[in-house]
Amino acid sequence: MKVASVLIPLPVDEAFDYEVPEAMVLARGDQVAVPLGPRLMRGVVAEVRETTGSNRRLKAVEQRLTDPPVPGGTLDFVEWAARWTLSPPGEMAAMALKGLRNPAPRPERRVRRVGERQPARPTAARTTVLEALGERAMTAVDLARAAGVSSGVVKGLIDEGVLEVVEIAAVAAFDPPNPDHRPAELNPDQAAAAESVSAATAKGGYSAFLLDGVTGSGKTEAYLEAVARTLRADPTAQVLILLPEIALTQDLIVRITTRFGAAPAEWHSGVAPPRRRQVWEAVAAGRCNIVVGARSALFLPFPKLRLLIVDEEHDGSFKQEDGLVYHGRDLAVARARIEEATVVLASATPSLETLWNARQGRYGWLKLGRRHGAATLPDIRLLDLREAPPERDQWLSPPLKEAMAETLQAGEQVLLFLNRRGYAPVVLCRACGHRLTAPDTDSWLVEHRYTGRLVCHLTGFSTPRPKHCPACGAEDTLVSVGPGVERVEEEARSLFPDARTAVFSSDTVPDARAARALIQRMTDGEIDILVATQAAAKGHNFPRLTLVGVVDADLGLRGGDLRAAERTFQLLTQATGRAGRADRPGRALLQTWTPDHPVLMALAAGDRDAFIEAEMAEREAASLPPHGRLAAIILSGEDAAAVERVAGALAAVIPNAERLEVYGPADAPLALVRGRRRKRLLVRADRDVDLQGFLRAWLSRVKVPGSVRLSVDVDPYSF
Ligand code: ADP
Repeated sequence: MKVASVLIPLPVDEAFDYEVPEAMVLARGDQVAVPLGPRLMRGVVAEVRETTGSNRRLKAVEQRLTDPPVPGGTLDFVEWAARWTLSPPGEMAAMALKGLRNPAPRPERRVRRVGERQPARPTAARTTVLEALGERAMTAVDLARAAGVSSGVVKGLIDEGVLEVVEIAAVAAFDPPNPDHRPAELNPDQAAAAESVSAATAKGGYSAFLLDGVTGSGKTEAYLEAVARTLRADPTAQVLILLPEIALTQDLIVRITTRFGAAPAEWHSGVAPPRRRQVWEAVAAGRCNIVVGARSALFLPFPKLRLLIVDEEHDGSFKQEDGLVYHGRDLAVARARIEEATVVLASATPSLETLWNARQGRYGWLKLGRRHGAATLPDIRLLDLREAPPERDQWLSPPLKEAMAETLQAGEQVLLFLNRRGYAPVVLCRACGHRLTAPDTDSWLVEHRYTGRLVCHLTGFSTPRPKHCPACGAEDTLVSVGPGVERVEEEARSLFPDARTAVFSSDTVPDARAARALIQRMTDGEIDILVATQAAAKGHNFPRLTLVGVVDADLGLRGGDLRAAERTFQLLTQATGRAGRADRPGRALLQTWTPDHPVLMALAAGDRDAFIEAEMAEREAASLPPHGRLAAIILSGEDAAAVERVAGALAAVIPNAERLEVYGPADAPLALVRGRRRKRLLVRADRDVDLQGFLRAWLSRVKVPGSVRLSVDVDPYSF
C-alpha cells in the first residue's frame, strides 16, 4: 500500500498520513484534497512511501488537485523554514499556497470571428473592425478602441452573427523583461558590483553578497544591472526582489519597468486577491521573470529562482512577528542556499548580523563608496536643544526654523522627520495626572487630530477623545503631551503659512496608491514641507529636498531595547540621507538633548565604522547577537495564572546545556495586549550551539493547555 504524508495548514508539528488510492499517482509537491474530520482540506504531499500490509485506520486521499505542484525547491524551503523557526510545517506550507486561496479572476467576455462569416453590409467601419480583430479574441471595448469606431459597430456585428462573444479565463501576461531595453551607464564601483553578482549567477551554486553603499550611491542601479546580466545569460531565470515596505515598491516598479521595458509582478498584501492567484500561477509556470514583493513573496513557487535581492536588508520590517515568526532576510539567504542561487543583501546601514557575516568572509562584500554623479552626502549637524530650546509647546528650535526659512526661500523642500504617528503620544489629566491608556493593553492612547480619536497603536483600539477625565471625572482637564507628526505639521503651518505642508505616515498614506500619489506630489514640487514618520524616511528620491530636520533624534535611544542604538543609527542615516540626492547639496539638522551620545556623534561625523566598532564590541562583551544567538519564548493568555503556571513549569525543566543560558520568566516587553498577559523566557546561546535542538527538547517536556499560547521567536529582532 502507498501512504502519503500531507502537509495541512494546521498548527500541528507533523504531516498527516493518508492512503493513496490504487489508481492515483502522487508525487512530492502535488496538491491534494484530503478529509479531516467532516471537512475536506487542501494540502501538499510531502512524501509518498510504500508500506507493507494495510493500515485500515488511514483515510484515503480524496483527490489530486489540478493546481500546479509546489516545486521541490519551494517545498524544501518550506520544510527548512518550519524547522528553523520551530513553526508547524503545515502552516509554513500554507504560505506557499497563499495565492491559491483566492478565487480565480472572473473570466473575461471577449469577441472573436465566427468562422469566415462576412457582414451583410461591409461598411468601411465594419471592415476596419474585422481587420483590427484578425484571428484574436478581444474585449468589445478594446476592439472598438483599436478600430477607432463606436461600440455600436462592434455590437452590430455581434447581432448579425459575424462576431461571437466567448468567455476566456483571464491569464496574466508578463512581458519578458528586455535586459537591453535601457541600460544605465554604470560608474566603475557599480560595474564591479554588478559583475561580481552576475558572475556568481552564471557560475551557479549558492553565493551571498553584501551590497554596501551610502544612500544614493546607486545600489539599486547596480543590482538591476546584475538582474539584466543574469537574464541575458538565461532568459528563463527568475529573480525575486524583496523590499521591507509596500510604500517602497512603486518607485522600484517604475524603475524596473523603465529599465527592462516590462513591468515586474508584484506580491504583497496590497495586491488584489484574484491578481495574486494569477501571479502565483505565472510564477509556478515560469512565465514571470521578475517579482517585486514583501517578505511573503519568499514563499512563491519559483521553479527557477537564480537571484534574490533583499533591499534595505537591515530593516526591522522584514521580521514578521504575528502568526508565523520569521525574518525575511534570513529566510532569503536560506532560500538561496536551498535553490543554489545568489542572494544580495543591499543597504546603506547593514545590520550587525550581516556585517559580521561579511567580515567573516561568508558574504562577498561589494562596496559603493560615494554618491552617484555630482550628489554629495548631506552635511549633518546636531542642534543642542539645551543651548537653543524650542519655545513652550513648540518642537522646532530657533536654528531649525531659520534653516527651514532659508530652504523655502531658495524654493527647495524640507523634510521634518519624527517617528511618531498622530498628534500627541500621551494624553493626561491636568487635575489628577492620570494618563489615558488602552483598556486591555499596556500602552498609552495616542491622540489623532485628523480623526479626533485616541488610538492604541498596538491593537488599533480607538475611542473619541473624552470630555471628562476617566479617572477623576474633572471636565476639560485633558491635555495633549508631546509631539506626533500631526502636531509638528500644525506648527510648521503656523510658522510658514504660505508653505504647502503634508504629513506622510501610515495614517495619511494607508496603501500603495496613496503613497504613490503623495510621493508624486513631493517629486513634482507641490509640497514644501513634508512631515514624515519612517514610512517616508527610506528609499525615496526627492530631487528638490535639501533640508532634513530630525525633530527628536533622542527618541529611539530611550527605552531598554538592546538594538536601540543600531536601529536609531540606521533610521537617522536613512532619514538624513533623503537630503541632497540630486545636484543640490543637502544638509540635515538633528535636534537633541544628548549631543554627546555616541550614536549621534558618529552620525554627525559621518563615521559609520566608529559606530559599528563600538556597537560590535558591546555586543561581543555581552555575547549578544551577532556574537551569540537568542530565542524568546512568549507565553500569553487571558488567564494570567495559567500563563504563570506554564512559565513556571518550563523554567523547572530546562535541559542541561553548555554555553547557553535561560533568563526569566519575566513580563514580556508588552506585558498586556488585548487582555492577554504575556510572559517571556529568553535563551542566549553561543553561535555554535544547536539552539533549535535545545528548544525542541525543552518545549517537548511541558504540555501547554489550550488556554495558553506559546510562541517561539528565534533570533528576535527586539531584545
Ligand atoms: P541607492 O539605491 O544606493 O540609494 P539609487 O540606485 O537609487 O541609489 O541611485 C541614486 C540616484 O542616482 C538615482 O536617482 C539614480 O537614478 C541615480 N543613479 C545611480 N546610478 C546611476 C548611473 N550609473 N547612471 C545614472 N544615474 C544613476
